Amino acid sequence: MPDPKHSLEWLDITRTAGGQPLRVAAHVFRGVEDGPRVTITAGIHGDELPPIVIARQVTEQLDSLPVRGQVTVIPLCNPPGFESFTRNTPTDMQNLNRVFPGDLDTWLSDQLAKKLHEYIAPRTDVLLDLHAGGSIPTVDYVYVLNAPEVSRAFLFPTLYKGKSYQGTLGTELIKQNGTKVVVAEIGGGGQLDAQYIRRGTAGVMNALKVIGSIPGDPQPAPAQTLLHDMKIVRPAFGGILMPRVDATQLGQAVDRGTLLGTMVDPQTFEELEEFRAPFDKTQLVLVRPTPSRTHAGDYAYMLGDLSTAEQLESQQLARQDG
Ligand SMILES: [Zn+2]
Repeated sequence: MPDPKHSLEWLDITRTAGGQPLRVAAHVFRGVEDGPRVTITAGIHGDELPPIVIARQVTEQLDSLPVRGQVTVIPLCNPPGFESFTRNTPTDMQNLNRVFPGDLDTWLSDQLAKKLHEYIAPRTDVLLDLHAGGSIPTVDYVYVLNAPEVSRAFLFPTLYKGKSYQGTLGTELIKQNGTKVVVAEIGGGGQLDAQYIRRGTAGVMNALKVIGSIPGDPQPAPAQTLLHDMKIVRPAFGGILMPRVDATQLGQAVDRGTLLGTMVDPQTFEELEEFRAPFDKTQLVLVRPTPSRTHAGDYAYMLGDLSTAEQLESQQLARQDG
């Protein structure tokens, strides 16, 4: 690592039962000039691979750019989840992104959350938290929470301003510290990873221009759809979900009643459930693009209601460093 502004810091979390140190790496880029302090997180969910690769590419690009303020990149917040390639931490089966700000007196996920939060909160004016759809689903949207220009800077076609969950890193940082937060849901499912890694990397770099961390004029935001209402479709039965829509249709609208997929019993081949578009104009936000083993209650689809959505026009984005 020849770049003097790029240093690697380790957060010591604990020791695993098998005696291995559990630690989390942070790449810290310190600028010579004062400026915003940004943290980029990935891998909070262990099966979301594209954001980790995006974090690597962003890190490589930052090595050759002058940084203002400070940029901290934490590519893998949940190493045990990544080891098992599961959304939840295998040791305690908890969702790390529901237990922030964490607690040292309970399970491993809570301890990990606590140590991440303690490290991130005091060093972060803006958080870019990168997610994806896990090993099967593909997803494509960016949350608008409290930094709309930075959300738009990701250049994704779909934005969502709606319900956010309690106990996420972003929710807790907004609540306790007033941190500006953008959460981006970038691909997953393996089929279009190269495309999503490219788009996600470009989105983060453009967001860093809007924030004022790196030089250059930001690329203007394209016309984007801002959803206010989204339905998460969770199957009543488990089985094999046979898709009728694929990942290339994300960001597109289908008419009410369009068949999106069916749940099939893996032994009798009985069709247990049909999934149909619930809104007059239904925007596809998360789909399972290949036949997949799907549990009852898991994420089958995320679908936007275009009747309550705003169509945002293309917009020049100003750098926020004045
Ligand atoms: Zn996630």
